[in-house]
Amino acid sequence: MDRVEDLDRDRGPGGLTPRRIAVIGAGYSGIAAAVGLVREGAAVTLLDANRTAGGRARRVEYRGASLDNGQHILLGAYRHTLALMHAVGVPANALRQHRLAIHYPGALGLAAPSLPAPLHLAVALATARGLGFGERSAAFAFAFAIRRAEAAAREGETVAAFLDRLGQPARLRRLLWEPLCVAALNTPAERADARVFSRVLHDALTRTRADSDLLLPAFDLSALLPDPAISWLGERGTEVLLGTRVTALSQVAGGWRLATSEGPRDFDAVVCASAPYEAASLLGTLPTLAPLAARISAIPHEPITTVYLQYDTRVRLPFPMTGVEDGHAQWLFDREALGGTRGLVAAVISASRAQAALDHDVLATAVHREIERVGAVVDPPRWTKVITEKRATFACVPGAFRPAADTGAPGLVLAGDYTEGPYPATLEAAVASGLRAARHLT
Ligand SMILES: Cc1cc2nc3c(=O)[nH]c(=O)nc-3n(C[C@H](O)[C@H](O)[C@H](O)COP(=O)(O)OP(=O)(O)OC[C@H]3O[C@@H](n4cnc5c(N)ncnc54)[C@H](O)[C@@H]3O)c2cc1C
Repeated sequence: MDRVEDLDRDRGPGGLTPRRIAVIGAGYSGIAAAVGLVREGAAVTLLDANRTAGGRARRVEYRGASLDNGQHILLGAYRHTLALMHAVGVPANALRQHRLAIHYPGALGLAAPSLPAPLHLAVALATARGLGFGERSAAFAFAFAIRRAEAAAREGETVAAFLDRLGQPARLRRLLWEPLCVAALNTPAERADARVFSRVLHDALTRTRADSDLLLPAFDLSALLPDPAISWLGERGTEVLLGTRVTALSQVAGGWRLATSEGPRDFDAVVCASAPYEAASLLGTLPTLAPLAARISAIPHEPITTVYLQYDTRVRLPFPMTGVEDGHAQWLFDREALGGTRGLVAAVISASRAQAALDHDVLATAVHREIERVGAVVDPPRWTKVITEKRATFACVPGAFRPAADTGAPGLVLAGDYTEGPYPATLEAAVASGLRAARHLT
């Protein structure tokens, strides 16, 4: 694992002329790269094609409500993200901390007590409601296996094959491991990389109890980190150009020229922190990097759909995060319980290829029935909004290509959730990659 940066320490330029470094993309990885570089004394310009910062984790305004492009959940194990939030002054109440709990009304109830890890996990499994004897002992065997992190799984093994090998019963897979897999890797168990899954579970469940906490954003996703980080950067003289698209890169004497929608700009070095498909088209403009661009462009993606349903303000879900058995939605989030709008429910559908093809009204009606099933509502919603991010994350399959930060071209590095790293495409992978890219250039 990457070491967590000492983000509270400013090193400064040490009397030399600071290097001018462009960061392309104000998503979580670009924000992290910019903060890391400014900490090292670089003169940074942060550019994003969008006017709202956050990239694939950003605010979306709809009918006077601050929604997100998709409901996100963070874990206590997100050490780089939490350190970065702390360093740029994000208040502690931006995240609602919930102890690990998984609730499928009428089917399964599991909650971790306040005990040190891994005892909290053992007690959670021992006291879980709705598990038979065989399921409980299989769950213990699984928890024992993942103490070895990725080494628990075989090279090239899928999560489905891993669960087979560990003798996990069908109901336990359906209610516990498969929903966790698709939530964490955004890839169904039949195709997902068992090594990455095992690494995520190991880090979340077996190190400290706090690592397993579910941290639910109480602010919208742009306000959670990007906006305060941009204020922090602005106070330190960083140039932030939102609404500015970079259209091409070229190498010039001593550095790089960026063609942008606002005209050309020259820099000593560049961090390309855009999503893989966008990075591929920028790198593709450089003949020497065409083979790398082609490999990045071939990375397959998975969609995520979020269905927002605005109910009467009295409506509450049985739990802030409620599991849905055999539904389109996998999880329902009570936005009021997370500090958001009253009566607003966010239904999350990861790896949503089938649902992304459905008519929005048909899908919203089906999800409303699923919310009825968990016993939360009687009246239909006042409005619904379906948001599908077609290329939400890369497909986390065995052998997935994840490029290193170093492109081989001097002074041009990559950042982003898809670059080399132990985690699937997550906010934590994005932030860790941004800090890593900054380290490469300083
Ligand atoms: C619906 C959804 C739900 C998710 N749920 C979770 C979750 O629960 N937990 C979790 O940890 N992760 C979750 N993720 C994943 C997480 O959002 C991403 O891993 C992360 O936001 C990726 O950040 P990034 O900086 O790597 O890329 P991006 O967020 O894609 O940022 C790239 C930025 O670059 C900009 N850009 C691109 N090209 C150019 C250009 N040519 N010029 C200028 N700017 C450019 C884009 O506008 C964008 O702002 C989810 C993702 C989605 C879509």
